[in-house]
Amino acid sequence: MSVITRIEITHHQLPLDPPFPASWDPKPRTMFPATIVRVHDDAGHVGIGSGDAMYGFADFASYFIGEDPLDLDRHYAVLSNVAFHSGRPWPMDVALWDLAGKIRGEPVWKLVGGAGDRVRAYASTGVHRSIPATIDVARRAIKRGFPALKLRFGRPSIDDDIAVVKAVRDAVGAALELMVDCNQGWRMPWDTQPPWDLARAIDVAHRLEGERLYWIEEPLHRGDYDGYAELKQHTATRIAGGEMTREPYEFRELLARGCLDVFQPDCVCTMGISGLRLLAREIAAAGKIFTPHTWGNGIGLLANLHLTAGTVGAPFIEFPFDPPEWTTARRDYILSHTIEPDADGWITLSDAPGLGIELDEAALARTKSEQATFS
Ligand SMILES: [Mg+2]
Repeated sequence: MSVITRIEITHHQLPLDPPFPASWDPKPRTMFPATIVRVHDDAGHVGIGSGDAMYGFADFASYFIGEDPLDLDRHYAVLSNVAFHSGRPWPMDVALWDLAGKIRGEPVWKLVGGAGDRVRAYASTGVHRSIPATIDVARRAIKRGFPALKLRFGRPSIDDDIAVVKAVRDAVGAALELMVDCNQGWRMPWDTQPPWDLARAIDVAHRLEGERLYWIEEPLHRGDYDGYAELKQHTATRIAGGEMTREPYEFRELLARGCLDVFQPDCVCTMGISGLRLLAREIAAAGKIFTPHTWGNGIGLLANLHLTAGTVGAPFIEFPFDPPEWTTARRDYILSHTIEPDADGWITLSDAPGLGIELDEAALARTKSEQATFS
């Protein structure tokens, strides 16, 4: 057996010029941050993870040094405790799975269950555009082979949000599944307006009924279990959520109360690959859809792809896509190759050991920073 000898954490920031006007962020983003975690063992393997800032993790490194990297359940228990005491350490779990794959000579999708090696991607937009510009994005998504497109709410008037959905549906007909993200589950730190209440969520769901949406995402706060359960009685459209829900018992509550049809925990922000490979099976066994949030960098996308393909699969998984403001080149600047779906929207994972990550070391050197913030 090998032992863990060192944990290396570096921060990076890609300057964004022009800035990225994320619809869920009142401040246009001038930087795209990435934190890279590298876990070394004494046999020369290096596991890589990314996807969250990991500030202060050095305080907990000693709980891993000298341990067998393959004791993944033990590491998950420690990381769950760290998550309680200090932020979200889940890129460390991703790095440990990458390391385990490299030690075993197998891809992570095989280690988590081996159910499959591919998932279809849906185009997930991030910018508020005019109606004609949004229709253009939808047409580009069809041309690129995506089966589905997610649009963002959050314009000053909900009437404008709904008008965009109706116009896109009229333009594309049945050529694309459409989803909307209401982004009411959580807020940016400086963003203080209250989330929608149940009456508002029911009204929006009713107004969208004719658009045959595949799901409505986060129409309520993540902890409004009563609201979600009641909303489900008022609409036939699937309700999605849980991208920033953090605790296993919260997901069990959401399942037990019938709050959601689609569960979206992201393994770089919630419970890691270790926790979600089990939760994914609980969700699927309950007849619900598991399809992680992946809005972040390419390593987070890869980790969620391996997790999903190898366990329960998904009708389609989030693929951040909103050129020209958001491109795969920006998203994947830490990687030596961008991740691209094939002509039918499928992403097929390789058999390379671990997550198959190839870091762009020159880009990492160029973008090295003391912090991992968005401006
Ligand atoms: Mg979302």
